[in-house]
Amino acid sequence: MSAPSANRIPVHDVDATKKRIHPRFTDGFYQRIRLFSMYFLLALFLILPWIKYDGRQAIWFDVPSQHYYIFGLTLFPQDFFFIAAFFMIAAFTLFMVTVYAGRVWCGYACPQTIWVHLFQHVEKWVIGDRNKRIKFDIEPNSASKIAKKLLIYFIWFLMALITASTFVSYVAGTKFIYGSWQTLGGFPIPDWPTWIWVSMFIFTFATYANAAYMREFMCIHICPYGRFQSVMFDKDTLIVSYNYNRGEPRGARKKGTHPDNLGDCVECTMCVQVCPTGIDIRDGLQVECIQCAACLDACNEIMDKVGYPRGLIRYTTERQLVEKEKSRYLRPKLFAYLLLLTVLISVVAYSLIERVPLQIDVRGDRNQLSSTNTEGQIVNSYVIKVTNKTQKSNDYVLTITAPKGFNLMTRFKSIPLDAGESYDMPVSIAADPKVITQSETPITFNVDSKDGSYHASKTNVFTSQITK
Ligand code: SF4
Ligand code: SF4
Repeated sequence: MSAPSANRIPVHDVDATKKRIHPRFTDGFYQRIRLFSMYFLLALFLILPWIKYDGRQAIWFDVPSQHYYIFGLTLFPQDFFFIAAFFMIAAFTLFMVTVYAGRVWCGYACPQTIWVHLFQHVEKWVIGDRNKRIKFDIEPNSASKIAKKLLIYFIWFLMALITASTFVSYVAGTKFIYGSWQTLGGFPIPDWPTWIWVSMFIFTFATYANAAYMREFMCIHICPYGRFQSVMFDKDTLIVSYNYNRGEPRGARKKGTHPDNLGDCVECTMCVQVCPTGIDIRDGLQVECIQCAACLDACNEIMDKVGYPRGLIRYTTERQLVEKEKSRYLRPKLFAYLLLLTVLISVVAYSLIERVPLQIDVRGDRNQLSSTNTEGQIVNSYVIKVTNKTQKSNDYVLTITAPKGFNLMTRFKSIPLDAGESYDMPVSIAADPKVITQSETPITFNVDSKDGSYHASKTNVFTSQITK
């Protein structure tokens, strides 16, 4: 790893406020990729709840009714496996990407980074670039300063509110969040239940507090991923790094010159000024670095200006930088993650393909499972729960597979169920004692959709022991 400089600039000396980091916004190859990634993900987050599929919200985690819709797929609490598997796949993908490309998630895709970036842009739009923002922080209050602050707070609040309503609409549905109104004292206000008001308050507050005040504190001190990522790093992980041997001794110089006693770092501090976490990349790899590559782009711009080759700060690996060896891109750790992901994704894909969107559960009547009827037959009672897991209404028919002489007794010819609906149906099975050959006879309950598309079954037992 690059050695830290002996006469380095203390991190916050470049920030006159010593309280708040006001990064300078920079442009460059990696910043353009970052912006594309950030705005693409942001647009996805905002647009997805408005997309319809088959007449309803395509992605809708309808917690109150416990139906989770993802386009053509409806999941129920019983399908917890898929939800757990999804999180495992996401986690292992993140681990694999981290082993290969370091904290690329933090710099290019993390919601915290995206929202902080947006909130800082509001400050830039209202106050101006970095120097103006630093001056603004320390100047005494005036009417103009208060007006600007109020404008910033108002825009931040609106952004937090939009974030919260989008977030909650994934759970409550856009139709309900934006379409339910009532009048209170002559003013229209949303007609929401308490849990939505509470959720809106929590998400608005959390977004505002995180993006307006917590900012890099969240990444440095709270986010667990930032803490344990170093465990995943190896000598071949991509990191943004300063080439210490090339840059040192650093120092200012006349334009167009390169004094023999100095390295390539012209001590412009631009790499520190653009850093959103306020660190100096020249001090080596630090836990605060979210690998956003802003310092890399800023330094390349400086190198272009002074006529030195680019890459004083660059994406590299420890093996390349310190051991002067070629990085190994194909390594056992990556293959292990790939193998694990392939197995997980295959299992989920197979389970999804095999999944029947129809469920049957059978419970014996707890009060009196077995009794005799007026004809002397032994009768067992059950409650059959049928769940239509499709996204369409359907009619279902119940039958049994049982030895000859066992008869299903039900008043239901068919069970009409709406999409996602369940129904508990009491049924009985009667059998003449002569046909019963064992104390517990297995009975299979079958449920089939009338159109013949779906079939599900469950086996229970018929007991011949009379319960009182
Ligand atoms: S931007 Fe480059 S040249 Fe300027 S201080 Fe940082 S490392 Fe040195
Ligand atoms: S040191 Fe460079 S890559 Fe790391 S957070 Fe700061 S600007 Fe981004």
